[in-house]
Amino acid sequence: MAMEIYDHPTFKMACQQFDLVANFLGMSESDRDRVKYPKRSMTVALPIHCDDGSTRVFSGYRVQHHLTLGPTKGGLRYHPDVTLGEVAALAMWMSWKCALTGLPYGGAKGGIACDPGKLSRNELERLTRRYTQEMIPFIGPQVDVMAPDLGTNEQVMAWMMDTYSVHVGATVPSIVTGKPVALGGSQGRREATGRGVAYLVNRATDTIGMDITKATAAVQGFGNVGSIAALSLARYGAKIIGVTDAFGGVFNSKGLNLWELEKHVEKTRSVAGFAEAEPLTNEQLLVLPCDILVPAALERQITEVNAPKIQCRILAEAANGPTTPEADEILKKRPEIFIIPDILCNAGGVIVSYFEWVQDLQSFFWGETEVTDKLFRILETAYTQVVALSRKQKIPMRLAALSVGIKRVQEAKKLRGLFP
Ligand code: NAD
Repeated sequence: MAMEIYDHPTFKMACQQFDLVANFLGMSESDRDRVKYPKRSMTVALPIHCDDGSTRVFSGYRVQHHLTLGPTKGGLRYHPDVTLGEVAALAMWMSWKCALTGLPYGGAKGGIACDPGKLSRNELERLTRRYTQEMIPFIGPQVDVMAPDLGTNEQVMAWMMDTYSVHVGATVPSIVTGKPVALGGSQGRREATGRGVAYLVNRATDTIGMDITKATAAVQGFGNVGSIAALSLARYGAKIIGVTDAFGGVFNSKGLNLWELEKHVEKTRSVAGFAEAEPLTNEQLLVLPCDILVPAALERQITEVNAPKIQCRILAEAANGPTTPEADEILKKRPEIFIIPDILCNAGGVIVSYFEWVQDLQSFFWGETEVTDKLFRILETAYTQVVALSRKQKIPMRLAALSVGIKRVQEAKKLRGLFP
């Protein structure tokens, strides 16, 4: 089956990973294409009025990977490099992630090729509303539910919910997750991904016999996921020695004061220039001697170039797709590095998004302790399953995690059969 429309290194990477798993599972040729390729994809032109009176047209995308287990679910990304192929890869990963954690969803992802940092608040609002309007035939609480991702946040979700609700003529909080709590968002959703990352890192330290209170950590990205992961790891007792973002980075061998760093980022929008720390580049951060490395920014950061030089004991993939298949091959020969693969490591976000959707559908809301308890229970089940499979079959953690997710989707498709 030809899928040239998705041509992109990240889509190729997701397909390569899938093929490895399909080989491992002995999947038949006829099942492969059906499970692998996205069901639907949309590309839209988004004209908006800019503040200077001009009109600009942006490209927007949405890919719904499979509709077998329920609505599709996945984030919306605002970044200049967003393409249909990248979004398709991210949608595939969402499918395996939801299946791994037992959520009744297929995967989806969306994006707009734009630099949100260069748009005013009004321009961002117009762009978001226009995108939502264009997507109305393809979304719905039982069809496709969006959430924040790179470059989007609670406010963007609030505008989406408002646009959809105005169209329907009634308030529909379940159309998006990651909303402000005041609009039907869930307690603990904003913190869920980073908190889940830290929970799993703590579990991994048990697995490999490391004392987290003596561990050092480096985090790439200090946005929603990176900052909460860093703060939560610090609460478990780890010392955060390096942090980078799109504009620079900082290092302090004695540990960074994250609460002060957060204030600095609020003021300057970057970690760069934080007092009592030395400058650090992204390249340096990835090969920094540390116990825990957390890539929490973009895909394809750990490559065949830096994989041989990475010096951590735990690689916690908070971002989606941070490690290329070529780097994976190298890391396979480095068993001293314990990998928590992305579809497990960052699953906290979609798990609490699922809780938010359930709460919205029932109009019955839970407290933060209940949310976090339920989150950790689901993560624990998935973690235990993946570690057990990895040990039993002597396979890498990524192969174990992907094979649990992919097999579930394959089985669901088999049980439903093919119509007509
Ligand atoms: P965000 O926009 O809040 O933060 C992104 C951070 O990455 C920022 O600090 C930014 O400066 C930094 N960054 C961007 N480009 C960079 C570069 N070239 N080098 C270094 N740093 C760079 O986004 P987020 O929501 O924290 O998402 C981060 C990653 O986590 C993404 O891969 C996303 O897909 C994944 N993820 C997010 C969620 C969620 O709930 N937000 C859930 C699962 C996975």
